[in-house]
Amino acid sequence: MTPGYSDSKNHPPPAVRRRIVAFAGGVGGAKLAHGLAQILPPEDLTIIVNTGDDFEHLGLYVCPDLDTVCYTLAGLANPETGWGRVSETWNAITNVEKLGGPAWFRLGDQDIATHLERTRRLKEGQTLSQITKDFCKAWGIKHTVLPMSDAPVRTVVVSDEGELAFQEYFVHRRCEPKVKGFRFDGVAGAEAVVGAREAVEAADAIVICPSNPWVSVDPILNVIPLNEWRGTKPVVAVSPIIGGKAVKGPAAKMFDELGIEPSAAAVASHYRTILAGFVLDKADLNMEDQIKKLNIETRVVNTLMNHLTDRTRLADDVLDFIGSL
Ligand code: GDP
Ligand code: CA
Repeated sequence: MTPGYSDSKNHPPPAVRRRIVAFAGGVGGAKLAHGLAQILPPEDLTIIVNTGDDFEHLGLYVCPDLDTVCYTLAGLANPETGWGRVSETWNAITNVEKLGGPAWFRLGDQDIATHLERTRRLKEGQTLSQITKDFCKAWGIKHTVLPMSDAPVRTVVVSDEGELAFQEYFVHRRCEPKVKGFRFDGVAGAEAVVGAREAVEAADAIVICPSNPWVSVDPILNVIPLNEWRGTKPVVAVSPIIGGKAVKGPAAKMFDELGIEPSAAAVASHYRTILAGFVLDKADLNMEDQIKKLNIETRVVNTLMNHLTDRTRLADDVLDFIGSL
């Protein structure tokens, strides 16, 4: 077994070497990425993370999805929320609020340290990918985590109440406005970070984690469209929708408001031009045939990840499925 890869406890290495690139958003993506990191040695897993949610708040550069993935891999994430830090305190934001400042985006004290140091380094001229690499080292993360781009990409929610910056919609307005569509400002000129395309090129398969298709995965697919590798390596997605509902967050509501009935099949259809395989939950077994008709192979397993063992089991299922394609 490769020594020193994150948290691997008694899990045998895969019999066949598989180099995987995982596309991830925040909470859902981080959980599967964590599972994959239990099984794959560091050199065989690259996680490419959405930065469309990034924004500046209180003068700080905040990267919600990147931090969720890193905190999760490092074992520093708050297990209750899935985002933010474990054993967090809230002194800074509470005092910002007392002073009349914007406290709608909750930043914990430990988390603020991340944003402070990241902001300082960005102002010095370092790139987000260099900073992420250094932070991963400091947090003991052995697998490669890459922001999708060093250029700013900003997800804009086009809603019945006009255009809203992503965090304005997601946190401040609690996803209440009805979505009509999305725009990824800056995406046209945003190149993938160094190492991302190379990792995809070298990978045996791409895993699209169970992240929000509209606002977590689509921004990454806009920066790194997988069409050019079509037919050369399988792309496999895991459904973030179970039994017509999102486990967490507005994914199902977004499908609904865009006039698409939320379901695992709707997610498969969303990605159909790039998918070789789709992993759906046992609760959605009745959709398997419908998905197969899209010319996509299927695997039906338990996809709910409550504990680390669920994450590792799902990662194992995904790798096994990839091996069968
Ligand atoms: P965010 O950026 O923090 O909103 O995170 P993501 O986009 O990565 O994840 C949100 C999606 O993850 C939602 O659509 C959830 O339904 C999905 N999700 C969260 N936990 C799980 C899980 O345990 N299993 C599955 N299949 N999906 C999950
Ligand atoms: Ca996010």
